[in-house]
Amino acid sequence: MKLLTLLLAVLPVLGGPDARLQVRLSDDSGRLRYAIAYDGKTLVSPSLLGLQTNEADYTRLEVVSAETEDVRDTYVLDRIKASHIDHAAVRAVLHCQNPDGRALDIEWHLTANDAAFRYLLPRDTETGSVRVLREATAFRFPEGATGFLTPQSHAMIGWKRSKPSYEEFYTLDAPLATPSQYGHGYTFPCLFRIGSDGWVLVSETGVDSRYCASHLSDWDAAEGYGIAFPLPEENNGNGTVEPAFALPGATPWRTLTVGADLAPIVETTIAFDVVEPRYESSRGYRYGKSSWSWIVWQDDSMNKADQLAFIDLAAQMQWPYILIDAGWDKEFGRAGMEELVRYARSKGVDVFLWYSSSGWWNDIVQSPTDIMCDPLVRKPEMRWLERIGVKGIKVDFFGGDKQETMRLYEAILSDADDHGLMCIFHGATLPRGWERMYPNYVGSEAVLASENLVFGQVHCDLESQNAALHPFLRNTVGSMEFGGVFLNRYLHRLNGAPDAKGRVRGTVRRTTDAAELAVAVLYQNPIQHFAITPNNLSDAPAAAIGFLREVPTTWDETRLLDGYPGRNIVLARRHGATWYVAAVNASEEQPLTVDVRAIERRLGGTALVYSTGKDGLQTGAAAKKPLSLPKDDGAVIVLR
Ligand code: CA
Repeated sequence: MKLLTLLLAVLPVLGGPDARLQVRLSDDSGRLRYAIAYDGKTLVSPSLLGLQTNEADYTRLEVVSAETEDVRDTYVLDRIKASHIDHAAVRAVLHCQNPDGRALDIEWHLTANDAAFRYLLPRDTETGSVRVLREATAFRFPEGATGFLTPQSHAMIGWKRSKPSYEEFYTLDAPLATPSQYGHGYTFPCLFRIGSDGWVLVSETGVDSRYCASHLSDWDAAEGYGIAFPLPEENNGNGTVEPAFALPGATPWRTLTVGADLAPIVETTIAFDVVEPRYESSRGYRYGKSSWSWIVWQDDSMNKADQLAFIDLAAQMQWPYILIDAGWDKEFGRAGMEELVRYARSKGVDVFLWYSSSGWWNDIVQSPTDIMCDPLVRKPEMRWLERIGVKGIKVDFFGGDKQETMRLYEAILSDADDHGLMCIFHGATLPRGWERMYPNYVGSEAVLASENLVFGQVHCDLESQNAALHPFLRNTVGSMEFGGVFLNRYLHRLNGAPDAKGRVRGTVRRTTDAAELAVAVLYQNPIQHFAITPNNLSDAPAAAIGFLREVPTTWDETRLLDGYPGRNIVLARRHGATWYVAAVNASEEQPLTVDVRAIERRLGGTALVYSTGKDGLQTGAAAKKPLSLPKDDGAVIVLR
């Protein structure tokens, strides 16, 4: 560890391991600011640091001394975009004090393209705990920057008053002064284009039971974006807005990923680099693909015949799981459920079961309710789940971002691990480092997911745009439980056949089959609930079914080859020695050119190409001529 002896006439410049990234600290009349430059270009303008607790005001800070240390981020994680992380980093601690002499440290973690920081509060008086009233932390960007942003919703609106649930539309490349839709700022992660100088992704990680989840405020002309806490109305008004923790203690990490281009944004692992497992597991968890009836066949499919059909679908696809969604308790009862799980397991298929998180912070009637929120009921329920052989739970409709809800996520995860249960969260907040923090955590929705494609045509019309967007944003900071890959043309049980009144029902898919297959690679989640239905075994192209049998759900490496958020993407993910390259185009004006021969040369191996021919999905070897993908088309290139 280097101790920088500082009678700090000049504040330190902190450099990343290759020194292309630099954090410059400055003293602005007693207020501490940081700025970030990459290759000498300013990507983050001088922005405030500090926070205020109920015990002390740390919004005016002086740096007393600083230490830096070269470290390595080295770990194995089996559920994210890469499996073996090993890269250089610099850890720096700024020892600060406020005008009253109260101490606070700011810890920085710098990698080649990431700058993360958090506040460390000592126990320097009798006081053993604090409440954080507000953070002064800000994010300012140079003139002309634009944002790729999704708004934080009002609380207690939407379906059965279940928002906020991170299910909002994005605005792309918009000026920063544009007011947010609800006036509450933006959910993480937030992406900024700094003209032609580079890109910045802002997020947070390491949020657990000891803090609330935060978001960015609306843009302020003077100070930029601030850190905003949850709204008082969340959780039906129950629970505090201000987080509290014991001393010594720390805030979550604020993370900035920067680069001259978009590859560092898509490939970053900072959300996982700076967090630690919250508990060890004695269990081994197995990931893979899953069928689920609810997504296309909806509530009416909660009956024995349909559930058996989807168990058989999973078995025929050689998938390890089925997700049995809402209403199973009323339809089957406990005994019926035991029987269904026994049948599934006899077919080599394991079961995920759906729960509502509660009924007391929204108006949800989908059942079962009021189990997962209450430890006295939750624990015996989980003992029963383990006894009958259930392997995971999908818990839906959480109450918001307050610390009280973070405690609930952690309590459910911890109890579930005792019983070998994996956890998926829907109607939920963004995961913030949870894949590394919680060994049985396997994914969250926190996006306008596949159900919306069934609910509204506008979502089908935007499907390719979202496929070209989420790998740069929502999915780059955490697993995204999207539930996609449709092979029905009409997203309805009848798939285009007229109903009794002669009407054709369901929204209409705009994407090609090749683009749907690309989504299986573009969207990362270790458990994938794919949206195919039993009829697809006979009415979808055999090559599509074959691909969905073999495509992995876990990855050893991820690389962005080409793309622009919301416009197009070419993304490569490696599983073992095989690369899966997925491309989707969402641009009407510009076809996406994919030179398969060049990709072969770059990544190695021989290509098998899934693309769209005259008669629909086709497979073949790399052609001399590059692929030219029109809007809503895609391709997958498998390199062996
Ligand atoms: Ca949802």
